[in-house]
Amino acid sequence: MSALLESYVAGNWYAAPDEGETVLDAVTGEEVTRISSRGLDFAAMVAHAHQVGGPALRELTFHERASLLKALAKHLGKFKDEFYALSARTGATRRDSMVDIDGGIGTMFSYASKGSRELPNDTVVLDGNLEQLSKGGTFVGQHVYTSRTGAAVQINAFNFPVWGMLEKFAPAFLAGLPSIVKPASQTAYLTEAVVRRIVESGILPEGTLQLISGSAGTLLDELSEQDSVAFTGSAHTAEILRNHPSVLRRGVHLGVEADSLNCSILGTDVTTDAPEFDLFVKGVVSEMTVKAGQKCTAIRRAIVPEGIADAVVEAISARLAKIVVGNPADESVRMGALASVAQRDEVRKAIEALRSSAEVVYGDPDSVDVVGADAESGAFLSPVLLRARPGATEPHDVEPFGPVSTVLTYSTTAEAIELAARGKGSLAASLVTHDPDIARQVTLGLAPWHGRVLVLDRDDAAESTGHGSPLPVLVHGGPGRAGGGEELGGIRGVLHHMQRTAIQASPDMLTAITGRWTAGARRNDDAIHPFRKSLAELGIGDSIVSERRTVSLADIDHFAEFTGDTFYAHTDPEAAAASPLFGGIVAHGYLVVSLAAGLFVEPNPGPVLANFGVDNLRFLTPVKAEDSIQVTLTVKQITPRTSADYGEVRWDAVVTNQDDAPVATYDVLTLVAKTWPTTES
Ligand code: NDP
Repeated sequence: MSALLESYVAGNWYAAPDEGETVLDAVTGEEVTRISSRGLDFAAMVAHAHQVGGPALRELTFHERASLLKALAKHLGKFKDEFYALSARTGATRRDSMVDIDGGIGTMFSYASKGSRELPNDTVVLDGNLEQLSKGGTFVGQHVYTSRTGAAVQINAFNFPVWGMLEKFAPAFLAGLPSIVKPASQTAYLTEAVVRRIVESGILPEGTLQLISGSAGTLLDELSEQDSVAFTGSAHTAEILRNHPSVLRRGVHLGVEADSLNCSILGTDVTTDAPEFDLFVKGVVSEMTVKAGQKCTAIRRAIVPEGIADAVVEAISARLAKIVVGNPADESVRMGALASVAQRDEVRKAIEALRSSAEVVYGDPDSVDVVGADAESGAFLSPVLLRARPGATEPHDVEPFGPVSTVLTYSTTAEAIELAARGKGSLAASLVTHDPDIARQVTLGLAPWHGRVLVLDRDDAAESTGHGSPLPVLVHGGPGRAGGGEELGGIRGVLHHMQRTAIQASPDMLTAITGRWTAGARRNDDAIHPFRKSLAELGIGDSIVSERRTVSLADIDHFAEFTGDTFYAHTDPEAAAASPLFGGIVAHGYLVVSLAAGLFVEPNPGPVLANFGVDNLRFLTPVKAEDSIQVTLTVKQITPRTSADYGEVRWDAVVTNQDDAPVATYDVLTLVAKTWPTTES
């Protein structure tokens, strides 16, 4: 690592001309590096994202972006040893580093996979169904998402230098936005090392990732309407950002994840000998000690029934007594250092504030036995458990960002919910109970105040990911005090970066705009059966209108007998006649769909390789004996797979009766060869 951390700006590494601020090793207190962003041309950085990174990224489809993310995740996996060594200098144990480094890389893999499975191989996402806006069907509406043309600025906290960057970068990249990453100065050397590996890989299009080492300077002044800022850190900085003129007057999107007084509630059903009692205790201890409690999701408030509080305090204390604090390089160490001596001072101040309404029942904020390091020059702190006095207010207001938690007591379930809400909005809550009624009452009470709720009991504990782990597929963020932002949550996290627009047009225009066939648009029936066309030859709107087929009573009887589906509406004339819905024998819905397949299929070997499903199947009008049906099949969407010599074709299927009334509508999903005959045949 260089003596002065560099920024990556407009395709070049930039070293500030001054000495910079010293960054110290959290464990030894020795200098790790220095950091400065003086002289950095923030305007050039934003212009580069706007003019180079964004356009290059938006040329790519979601699937192409996803495959770059996957390649990058694989590439970073090769340098884990280097990252782990640097991570130890931030005070992290191996387990802590795993959460940060493997967690970050895993998040990229998850987005790569979701992007290729749940987004189209396109640059536009359709949102919701087509809205019919007129009687004649010539004027329709469709919501679409498109990429904003700005930059995604990501300002991160010191506690997760790798995960913090990658969990914001991956969804923004998939959404088509170039990122400008600004890690917290204290641990930026680890982020810088990861960015160096990313840049030298050459995997990303130039301009899609830039790095600021040091202060954000005038970066926000350079932002405008299409840009966004995603911030994780203190409520104080969040307030500064919220009041920045770019946010207030130029409509820069700001997402905030700030303080969070997360809680875990022990249900009134749990006795000291129940498995849930141990689960609760383990959960609190783990959240206090992993990353030395420097997690935005850590349990700051343990809310327990009055009658069991003494036992809970005793059990948590007994477990904490086994936690060895010290140099993460020592095998016996279970909890490392805080990120800096300054952070330790902050946590000590927070404990002092908590003491005005709570007693310290475990640990000494001013002294700790440390293994393999010096307790004062390293940022070490003992885990500290407090027990709140009745009516305590501080535990609901003060966030000790370290290995600290406070036990609070309640007497009724409603009171537990009310105590949780006094945190004024949090990222995560957990409830430990084996009682389904308590689970429903408490979870629904917690939900309006939380971004994520974990319900833990003997059944899910072994496989549970725990209270404090945000997952790429679930939303991360909380209302109110937690900042009101939302990240991750699978594709939701991608769509947050995109603009939703309602498009009003004719079906033909909408088809042209979205690249997907819209009901009511022109169909192309060129007399070649579309099942004879390869992906290269198929076009949106290609269709076939089948012959007609009369459904006889014998067909219905045969189907009932053959499949065993002898539901009365298909077999019992009297009962069927009495039915308010049918008024007589009707064909099975699945018979209609099966007959429709027989009507539209082209049976010979050809480019259609397989039928892999049916979506959105609805039976609209009952089919009676002697009704005649016909099916119209139209190519709705074509998605070539990047890693295969075939792609997916979604067909719009409408089955109508002799009166032209739709009896069934659905999408047929097929795999179709890119070319036919294929090279092998
Ligand atoms: P800060 O809010 O000070 O810093 C977070 C990020 O914002 C850092 O990258 C920082 O850069 C940057 N930053 C600071 N000031 C500005 C500014 N004016 N404009 C733009 N960016 C700015 O939080 P810390 O990381 O120092 O943590 C302080 C406290 O915040 C913790 O003790 C804890 O209480 C809380 N916190 C809460 C988290 C949560 O999610 N609940 C997560 C992390 C922290 P730089 O480092 O260069 O100053």
